[in-house]
Amino acid sequence: MLFKKKYYVCLVCGFDRLRGPLYKNGLPDYSLICTCCAFQPGYDDLDQGYTFDTYRAEWLANGAEWFMKKEQPKHWDVKAQLKNIGIEL
Ligand SMILES: [Zn+2]
Repeated sequence: MLFKKKYYVCLVCGFDRLRGPLYKNGLPDYSLICTCCAFQPGYDDLDQGYTFDTYRAEWLANGAEWFMKKEQPKHWDVKAQLKNIGIEL
């Protein structure tokens, strides 16, 4: 499948349809929120005492629920998605 639009990968959950990078030149884009894991740069990271790893661990422990459920693909697979960021469950 070809996409003309450029997408970005969430560094927490591996969701690869973010509309922009979470961080640009090291600065968080506060307007972004991951539709999958609900991670929000500049808020859910060090500001709240999270790292990508601890946020991910908590999200997985809570059942890896989609933040925007209607955006969830039919045959979504958390394990396949995490491979986008090199994580094997
Ligand atoms: Zn995410």
